[in-house]
Amino acid sequence: MDSDCHDDRTCPPREAPFPEVAADAAPADQLVRPCDIKGILHSHSRWTDGAHSLASMVATAQEIGLDYLGISDHFRTTTHINGMDLQAAQVQRQEIERLRALNPAFDILQGVELDANGDGTLPLDEATLSWFDFVIVSFPANGGYDSGRLTDQIVRAIAHPLVAILAKPMGEFMLQGAKAGVDIKRVLEAAAKYDTAIEVTANPCCAELDWSNCRLAQELGVKLAISPDAHRAARLVDYRHGAELARAAGVCCSTILNTMDHFEVRRYLARGR
Ligand SMILES: [Zn+2]
Repeated sequence: MDSDCHDDRTCPPREAPFPEVAADAAPADQLVRPCDIKGILHSHSRWTDGAHSLASMVATAQEIGLDYLGISDHFRTTTHINGMDLQAAQVQRQEIERLRALNPAFDILQGVELDANGDGTLPLDEATLSWFDFVIVSFPANGGYDSGRLTDQIVRAIAHPLVAILAKPMGEFMLQGAKAGVDIKRVLEAAAKYDTAIEVTANPCCAELDWSNCRLAQELGVKLAISPDAHRAARLVDYRHGAELARAAGVCCSTILNTMDHFEVRRYLARGR
């Protein structure tokens, strides 16, 4: 597990409720609803640090009404020593292909969650990155850097053409709950420039983009991915919490990456490759 919060059953109190912002953001019929979410692009299985098998994750995603699941197990790095190497990922792909054959109406995408190097570069070459359906980049530690340097690193990773999604943009895991001091405005501006999606962390126990940053992302034209980062099957349903947060922030369906159907989302993920 990369954070205790994945298994918490008690949620910390929220600092403050969202203000009534939705009304001035967009007509109500354009605001995202939980039922608009068609799939999830950030989840983990027993192949790395998830609690459940890939088959269980897929079965649960289908049972809760989703049309696709992006499995994004960790690649082996110094911060995820039990992550997959390419050989394991190739075997995982065979399992994904078997599951896809058994569930032809449900799409399964093979992504990878990758910890960026300290300088914002990625530890895999382009050919390996391209082999996956999509790449999520995370920053597991801030290396003791100041806000400016940390933000520089995140912007560098976002600029990589094969990075689809920046996970945990506020850096809540970087310092185990302490503020990482990310300059989120610069991060969102870079995401808009390089067309990289930013994650709205849907786990109720973790910090997420606040309403003003969700709104800023939308104004800048940044795609937001509502992601439970589920490490067990039951947590997949957390996407509903993320969608409700986004709706309260005044975020429209068209801003949310995973309101796309699986054809559209595959097209989006393949752009620039
Ligand atoms: Zn994750």
